[in-house]
This record gives sequence, C-alpha cells and structure tokens, in this order.
Amino acid sequence: MTLDYAALTAGSADAFDAARGRLPGGHTRQTLVYPPHPFFAERGEGAHLYDVDGRRYLDFVNNYTSLIHGHAHRPTTSALVRAAQASGAPGAPTALELRMAEELQRRVPSLERVRFTVTGSEAVGFALRVARAHTGRSRVLKFEGGFHGSWDDMQQSIRSAPLAPGEFALGAANSAGLAPTGTIVARYNDLDSACAAFARWGEEIAAVIIEPFLGNAALIAAAPGFLQALHALAREHGAVFVLDEIQSCRLAVGGAQSLHGVRPDLTTMGKSIGGGVPLAAFGGRADLMAVLDGFDPDVPQPGTFNAFPLSLAAGLETLQHLGEQQIDRLSELGEAVRERIRTTFAAHRVPVSVTGQGSMFHIALRDGQIADYADIATADATGWQLLHEQLLVREMYLTPRGTGCLSTPMTEENVERFAAALDGALTALRERRPELVG
Ligand code: PMP
Repeated sequence: MTLDYAALTAGSADAFDAARGRLPGGHTRQTLVYPPHPFFAERGEGAHLYDVDGRRYLDFVNNYTSLIHGHAHRPTTSALVRAAQASGAPGAPTALELRMAEELQRRVPSLERVRFTVTGSEAVGFALRVARAHTGRSRVLKFEGGFHGSWDDMQQSIRSAPLAPGEFALGAANSAGLAPTGTIVARYNDLDSACAAFARWGEEIAAVIIEPFLGNAALIAAAPGFLQALHALAREHGAVFVLDEIQSCRLAVGGAQSLHGVRPDLTTMGKSIGGGVPLAAFGGRADLMAVLDGFDPDVPQPGTFNAFPLSLAAGLETLQHLGEQQIDRLSELGEAVRERIRTTFAAHRVPVSVTGQGSMFHIALRDGQIADYADIATADATGWQLLHEQLLVREMYLTPRGTGCLSTPMTEENVERFAAALDGALTALRERRPELVG
C-alpha cells in the first residue's frame, strides 16, 4: 500500500515551511534535505531517531557514518559531560590531545605525527597544505566522484560527466562561487588515467588524494592493489599520497589502509573517531608533518576549536568501545543487510545493485552491479526517490542517495525489520511503477 509521507510528518512539514523563511532552503546542510521535506529530528536513542511527530526511525544514516555507537551512547555522553564540567575549551593545550594521538597511533601506525581539526574538510585542507609546503608544488590529483569536503579545490568533479577510460581532466567545479583551482581529476580504479595525468602534470602535482571507497558514489571500492599502485606512482613523481579515511576508518581498527596493505604518506580521519561530535585528524610521515613543527612553523594551524577537549573526550570514550570484536560484528551484520536487500528485491523481481563493505551498504535501482562511476548515472534515480520515501513512511531512515551504515546497537532483529519494511516499500513502488518488474 502506498502511504503518504507528507501526511505522516505534518509537524516536520510545518517546521520546514517556517525554516524556509529564515534559512535559505530551510536548512543548514544540503545533504540532509529531500522533497517534499525532510523529517525534523527531536532526539535519538541507540539505533533509533525520533522525529517531531513522535515517529521512531531505524537510523541507517547515523549522521553519515559518524554515529558508530548510535545515538546518545551512554559512556560517550558521560565523558562529554565530564569534559564540559572540566572546562569545555580552556584555551591551552590539554593532555587529551596526547592521549588521543596515542590511541590513533596505536590503531593506525602510519600516523607517525598527528594533528586535530574540527571538521573533515579542515583535515583534508591541512593535509594538502602540508603536501604543498613539503613539495613546493600546488596541484592536487583527485578522482571523479571522490568527496573530500567543502574546500574549493576539493569541490571538483564530484558529480561531473564521466571520463572515458584512460582519460584525465582538469577539475569541473561542483558549484558556483568557487575560486579557480589547479585540481586534476582521474578515473577511480583506472591506473592508466592517473599515469596519463602524471605524464602531463607530474612536475606540478603536490598530492594525490583518494578514498578507499567512494562514499558519495555508490561506495565503489578501490580494486585490490589499486591504492598501492597509486602510492608507487605518486612516489615515483615526488608527490604525496593522501588517503582520505574520514568515512572508511570505521571499516577496521587500523582503517581501510590496514585492509589494503598500504601505508599512506598522509591520512585524514573523522566522523566515527569523534563519538558523534565534531572531530577530525590528519597525520602521517614525521618528515612531512615537520612543516608544522616549532614555535614559528612553516605551516601554522590556527583554529579556535582545534583539538576541542569535549570532542577528544567523546572520541576517546567511543574508541574504547570499538575494538576488532565490535567491528567484526558490524561487518557480519553489514553482510546480512546486503544479502537481505538482494533477496527482498529478487522476490519482487525488481533489478538492484547492492554495493558496500563492512558496515556500509548502498542500494541503486539498476540491472547489474554498479562497478564504476559511469554506471551511477544509469541507475533509476526517480524510482529510488519513491522507494526512499516509502521507506521513510515505514520508519526506515537511509540517505537520499541510497546509502546506509550500521551502528553497534543494531541487531539481527533490526535487519529483519528493515527487510520487512523494504518488502512493503517495494510493493508500494510496484503499484506506482509496474514497469520496474524485470
Ligand atoms: N572526506 C570524506 C571522505 C568525507 O566523507 C567527508 C564528509 N562527508 C569529508 C571529507 C568532509 O568532512 P566534514 O563534513 O566533516 O567537513
């Protein structure tokens, strides 16, 4: 049965209408809004999020992978309160920085030196600045579909037209208002494309930056050996290899780099390491990070809320509850979700591509698996939009792009509940779009 999302979320509709008169578009974060209106959250608890109409969603968004322990994880919120009571931001270095540095270095040995920022965008920005200062070069090579935050040189070719195999290009601005940048873009998982870019611009490339999976592009994963080959290529041309693990650090205690067997020159981390509050980090080879050393460094890192003690306290507590055992369990649950999605779609004979790894999954309405960036444009986006809405109706919260992730409070029972909701949503979708059935 097709149920009416707008009628079920009248309080959110009113809030969105009111917000539109004060906030452009009615919001402060583009990724969280979708037509006809997003639901407005009131509070969260464990795996669930409650909206202003009192509806309770099973939350597969988890603030875009940040909430590894779900909402209001008790030990983390207690640590937050203790840190706030001890002085939220004392305006002097704290021992928490050292403790968090030790913790991250224990987990991710490539972080010989590490620094903290508030957002992932800043972590990426500073990592690139370190690379530029070290090499004396200015260009950066990224990959199409790759998302590395909101700074101008990274807001390039996130949703651009696909390149042809072996091709590379200058970055295509992702929005109006960006300053011109020297960003170069290659195809993900296409070494020829990166080689061609280096052959043309090799003398000018300060850094290569890449995600272990494309968080904004159907979670397409780096092919085995690709990151290693890219690192070798960067090294050969004197460029710094930066692995953006802001999302992928949830895949393993040692991050995705431990799974791929790479030791990046620099790494950025964020989201799940912050216990649900803003915290990110960048770090890597001591000789590169040396540009930040001293009382009058080559590269200063200003920022009123850098290494914010509340975030460090929350992050440290969160990581105490995130060992190999918890991550393995999340990965098993992730496999179960991906499998249940496949079988549920198959029962409805609706074509689907299910991608993702570990605790991440992505659903696209498409015949055949999404294997590279060019495939994404061929998925049925309007079909997905209908399905997303019917999932919301059934109190299942996924991103408007079709991505989901798990949190440690989730259980097998949650997976079954999701599969049942998906079954209902697919029935509703087929009523509206009978031609979808293969
Ligand atoms: N890099 C990656 C891989 C990300 O997923 C994100 C956030 N989605 C960022 C960088 C930017 O992080 P933030 O939103 O905290 O600025």
